[in-house]
Amino acid sequence: MSNIHPNFIAGDWRNGATSLENRNPSDIDDLIGIYACASEEDVRSACLEAANAQSTWYDAGPQVRSDVLNRVATGIEQRAPEIARMLAREEGKILSEATAETQRAAHVFRFFAGEALRVHGEFIASVRSGVDIEVAREPLGAVGLITPWNFPIAIPAWKVAPALAYGNSVVLKPAELTPGTAHLLARIIADAGVPAGVFNLVMGPGASVGAALVADPNIQAISFTGSVPTGRAISQHSLNGMKKVQLEMGGKNPMVILEDADLSVAVAATLNGSFFSTGQRCTASSRLIVQASIHDAFVEELTRQMLALKVGPALAAESQVGPVVSQAQLDSNLAYVALAAAEGCDVVGGERLDGSGRGYFQRPALFLGATSSMRVCQEEIFGPCASVIRVEDFDEALWVANDTPFGLSAGICTQNLRYAREFRRRVQSGMVMVNLPTAGVDYHVPFGGRKNSSFGPREQGRAAAEFYTSSKTSYLFSG
Ligand code: NDP
Repeated sequence: MSNIHPNFIAGDWRNGATSLENRNPSDIDDLIGIYACASEEDVRSACLEAANAQSTWYDAGPQVRSDVLNRVATGIEQRAPEIARMLAREEGKILSEATAETQRAAHVFRFFAGEALRVHGEFIASVRSGVDIEVAREPLGAVGLITPWNFPIAIPAWKVAPALAYGNSVVLKPAELTPGTAHLLARIIADAGVPAGVFNLVMGPGASVGAALVADPNIQAISFTGSVPTGRAISQHSLNGMKKVQLEMGGKNPMVILEDADLSVAVAATLNGSFFSTGQRCTASSRLIVQASIHDAFVEELTRQMLALKVGPALAAESQVGPVVSQAQLDSNLAYVALAAAEGCDVVGGERLDGSGRGYFQRPALFLGATSSMRVCQEEIFGPCASVIRVEDFDEALWVANDTPFGLSAGICTQNLRYAREFRRRVQSGMVMVNLPTAGVDYHVPFGGRKNSSFGPREQGRAAAEFYTSSKTSYLFSG
């Protein structure tokens, strides 16, 4: 059992009753490590200890919390090469992307170290004489955080950091495909001196470990990032337990290319938004909505650059696109490539790249001649695949952009200020990018979407206080 990476519960590293192998999607013969799975009893214990430890953590005050978060940021920076390598190995992101994600996680902890010192309230004059009113923000208690595999350190960071900054305690359940990065983060948090029970890590499958966390009566709130079906189920269970809930889910993000766009800017933004990180981003551009007059020139140049992308192992210096994360995700992507052809698209790329079975490599794909109602234009694929929809003018482009059950990030490439402004105002999404990729966001501003993409308050930046605190209005009469 000694080579099994344990869970972290109440300040102790504890082995679970079972464990899971963590394998490298660039080379499935590479066993990264074996990670403990928490039992239901482990989850119960973590939640109870978190609930017991929370008030002491809150009472310790903002300076203590800020100092701990700053030490976590420093710990991430000091171990960045090791974390980035682990991330690339277990998730398949190329090393430069994994390094950038790791740096972002450090920035997030540094930002919330500052926010811990800036918890504001309000003093309001009462309508009654002699009465003062104060509106304060208080922590919720013990919170459960459930994270996906596609940003194995950034998403845990942007949930754990605000939760701790505002005085909550935490039970983190990372995705079973990427426990290694979360485990390294847990080591750093433990080494930063967080008191026992304030931060807990429980690893293992969502259906058992995640579900037990959502059901636990000691957990006051759940923050989840992942797919729509899981999010919907979690929200129903959370509401049954009257827990506060925040969901960040998928996207079917439009990138509109108007005829006056700078072609090189549009191609660069699309190449990045659609295919970098193997398209495994909730903010990926998966619908390219192109005005007819620029369509052929845009498609020709995008196709040329897409087919030139070097797909290969995440740790190889020459790779520009890493592997798909798992066999199941690759099977799903390939099924969507076949569906695109069956729905009448002209498919460019999209095939599995090596027949050896050692890595899950897929050539990026464009689905040309798509129409908005096709399944490939409506369902999230979560792989390196983008549909191209030809439109006549701006009004049609805007209509197609909004013709989706999702509303996370939307982009437009244009040099026309009027269209840029109109798009910003009328597109139904939580984030809008003008002449920028739909993916790639700053860490200090609100993140989230509309429709099926998000539920509950926004994450990140100062907006995070809305979810991780509760408002208390108190009245005082001095007699
Ligand atoms: P899942 O919804 O399958 O999983 C997300 C997390 O939930 C994982 O930790 C998973 O555990 C856990 N989980 C699964 N079932 C349950 C359950 N019944 N109760 C509690 N927890 C559960 O999504 P993926 O990890 O496969 O991530 C890909 C999806 O996430 C895509 O659809 C993508 O769009 C979305 N996503 C959205 C983002 C956003 O910010 N909007 C960001 C990133 C991804 P385990 O995996 O261990 O089973």
